[in-house]
Amino acid sequence: MREFELIQQFFQREQADLLLEEKAQVSVVLGIGDDCALLQVPANKQLAVSVDTLVADVHFPADAKPEDVAERALRTNLSDLAAMGAEPLWFTLALTLPKNSEYVSEEWLRSFSCGLFRTANHYEIVLVGGDTTSGPLSITIQIMGAVESHQALRRDGASIGDFVCVTNYLGDGAAALAVIQNRLVLGSEHQDYLRERFYRPTPRLLESNLLRGIASAALDISDGLVADLNHICEASDLGAVIDVENLPLSPALIAINDLQQARTWALSGGDDYELCFTVSPEKMPELAMLIAEGKIYASVVGEIIAGSGVHCELDGETFELVVQGYQHF
Ligand code: ADP
Ligand code: MG
Repeated sequence: MREFELIQQFFQREQADLLLEEKAQVSVVLGIGDDCALLQVPANKQLAVSVDTLVADVHFPADAKPEDVAERALRTNLSDLAAMGAEPLWFTLALTLPKNSEYVSEEWLRSFSCGLFRTANHYEIVLVGGDTTSGPLSITIQIMGAVESHQALRRDGASIGDFVCVTNYLGDGAAALAVIQNRLVLGSEHQDYLRERFYRPTPRLLESNLLRGIASAALDISDGLVADLNHICEASDLGAVIDVENLPLSPALIAINDLQQARTWALSGGDDYELCFTVSPEKMPELAMLIAEGKIYASVVGEIIAGSGVHCELDGETFELVVQGYQHF
């Protein structure tokens, strides 16, 4: 299949319905097909941009279900927008596809495109361009969104005495990987829950939209709480202490029956795509209200302190962490 036909068949036609919607009509002046897309950033908003590359056999097994790869790729990118408090609008897709591969075929593309647009339509985000080349399988998604000017949730806004909070549960990403790699066996209900958490992480967009004006700093947890909270600490020139007792663990993580392992995964496992954010004591009543109203599920897990680095404590003593977040280099 020629490049032009491939783009036409799998990436250009799929979003016709969404393009008719008002949001897309206003913001996408010109989509796929020209040398550049032309995009209109809404008035009084700033453009938030992020890009991520997934390389076969580094970030996902080459024989993984293409639908799952596409969904996860787009969802983890959406998580970056959530981490900034931005509303998703558009994305571009650079695909490098192997020639004569045993895995990548038209069927692969059909399935990839299906997962991609299912997610894109769900989050009302429009594919506006890309690039298609041949070589070892890799997928690059650049995501773009808009955020009220000067209201983005940055990493450098934490102050001494701020509470450190996280959404939902931590450690599921690492537990899921253990299940997928057959290192961990649980009841089928827990295994299904963990697989779902891994392949279809929920970008915390609703939460971050509510947290603008409440959180002083935020990011999404991709490399583990300790490693990622340390980014907030460095950017804010401060330290943090985590109370290990208060880490939110899912029923599946409790079911592994090894609290030490569960806590280690929650602190350093990675792949959780939950938000870690800081809130000043003055703003805590507003967060407590959102939690009480069921609008956000979040827990306080620590505090911002003077100094540097992230310290973990359990019952007033240092909790030694053995494993670190994933390092590419
Ligand atoms: P150029 O030679 O100007 O880079 P291309 O032939 O690479 O143009 O692409 C033609 C059009 O198709 C462009 O609008 C580009 O954004 C779009 N496109 C190419 N590959 C993809 C893809 N994988 N997904 C979506 N759009 C794509
Ligand atoms: Mg090109």
